[in-house]
Amino acid sequence: MPLRFAEPTEDAYRFPLTIGHLLDAALVTSGEQEIVYRDQLRFSYRELKQRIGRLATLLTDLGAEEGMTIGVMDWDSHRYLEAYFAVPMMGAVLQTVNVRLSPAQVAYTLNHASAEILLVHHDFFPLIDAILPSCPKVKAVVAIMDGAEGDLPAYAKGEYEALSAAASPDFPFRDFDENAVATTFYTTGTTGNPKGVCFTHRQLVLHTLACNAPFGSTAQPGLGVDDVYMPLTPMFHVHAWGIPYVATMLGIKQVYPGRYEPDLILDLREREGVSFSHCVPTILQMVLAAADKRGSDLSGWLMTIGGAALTQALWREGTKRGMTIVAGYGMSETAPTLALCRRRFGADGSEESDMAALTMTGVPVPLVSIRIVDEQMRDVPADGKTRGEIVTRAPWLTPCYTGDPDNSKLLWKGGWLHTQDVATIDAEGYIQIKDRLKDVIKTGGEWICSLTLEDLIAGTEGVAEVAVIGVPDARWSERPIAVVVAAAGATPTLATVNAPLQAAVDDGTISRFALLDRIETVDALPKTSVGKIDKKLLRAQFAAAPASEAVADAVA
Ligand code: AMP
Repeated sequence: MPLRFAEPTEDAYRFPLTIGHLLDAALVTSGEQEIVYRDQLRFSYRELKQRIGRLATLLTDLGAEEGMTIGVMDWDSHRYLEAYFAVPMMGAVLQTVNVRLSPAQVAYTLNHASAEILLVHHDFFPLIDAILPSCPKVKAVVAIMDGAEGDLPAYAKGEYEALSAAASPDFPFRDFDENAVATTFYTTGTTGNPKGVCFTHRQLVLHTLACNAPFGSTAQPGLGVDDVYMPLTPMFHVHAWGIPYVATMLGIKQVYPGRYEPDLILDLREREGVSFSHCVPTILQMVLAAADKRGSDLSGWLMTIGGAALTQALWREGTKRGMTIVAGYGMSETAPTLALCRRRFGADGSEESDMAALTMTGVPVPLVSIRIVDEQMRDVPADGKTRGEIVTRAPWLTPCYTGDPDNSKLLWKGGWLHTQDVATIDAEGYIQIKDRLKDVIKTGGEWICSLTLEDLIAGTEGVAEVAVIGVPDARWSERPIAVVVAAAGATPTLATVNAPLQAAVDDGTISRFALLDRIETVDALPKTSVGKIDKKLLRAQFAAAPASEAVADAVA
């Protein structure tokens, strides 16, 4: 028998899962709830709705239309939240521009995404000055002065708040196909240029609902309607892990910290009663160090950690100061959330058992299938010991790298998205990442491409062979080091090896995070059976000091 389908009456509404609908209930239940920006601005959800309408109007006045890409270059702000809604709700595509890439890479991403209108914070004017001539598709820039004095740059069509105030709040938003692309951004790959990922309305709505679901489980640390939310993850990076959408859907108070300043973050946390945030381990360390300096009590602050492994040492440091800390896992290609940690069912309630469970990589969130497989795509035993690659299926994974069929095919080989993360899984579904197949290094939340650094270093006088690897670092999660074979009679130093990297930083081709702070000299680089440099072995050989000691240092 064929599948059966309902026969909707003519007037039955075909409800699309579009981002605007995340606002429907919140505007009814939370019209007077507040959105706060630093110590500069506060307004209600009712005004948020108007500000979203105003932004859509002003963008339309500047020539925006459905299908157009609109880029944002800003710190974590109410403006970004407005763009998270207004741009996709107009049927346009929001490009959350990674401002930490090198200028050449930022220009590449704007051109590749065909961004035509940009909203730019004044801190990024120098960057725009440098790249605008090489971005011919950009036809309008809106300057975000953020309270700063001074003239607008000549290329700006106006200032965000001024244009917003003059624009009508009544924008005629309409429903449309939920499969329209809502957002795009770029992730740094192993080789070549950054790779573009994109997500549809339907995907982001489902991601929002599913991310909220585990928070509702009893006895698990979570986000509820009484919470006050403040992101500490850049909003350009994977929708700030999707939580601004969750928080807005719930209609809870939201606090946006702008550019991260430890003291302001703690002021906001105390003054506004922030109870839920998320960040990479490096930012948590920064917050803990600042809190220690001023003797702040961090009780009642739930921090979700992702982007890199949460060490038990860091978990302890935060817990000691009253925080609840939970790890999560995802990646740019996955919108991002795949897994979140939770307490074991039937755990004894002790700090030790909490620590063991909450510092794992996580258990899948609803609607996510995760498998740990060997090279033949066979599931490894769920014994918490056998390693394999994490592959996944979920409704919100990027269907491709934009305009890059070869890498898209590799990403989706065999119908499962390949994360290139190596992990174990146990009988209760707890995943633990152990290693990485991708030859990239993640430092302070940013990717460094080891092959690019090797190319740059390879020509340096005195260097016969080089391998760049990531080693654990208590402060930055990982740092790149160069393992060098010296040419006959030569003695390469950190300064000589860094010289070509510094030149590449200066001309804007690589990020300053790529500069090395350590080199190691060896007689020969180990090779695998197929003659590739055995980076796994090098990583094991040059892994840094135990994290627990180093974390204590960083926090002190
Ligand atoms: P990104 O695409 O920049 O968000 O980076 C995603 C990658 O960060 C993943 O593929 C992992 O390699 C790493 N990552 C994210 N969360 C964790 C975690 N909880 N533990 C270890 N590595 C993680």
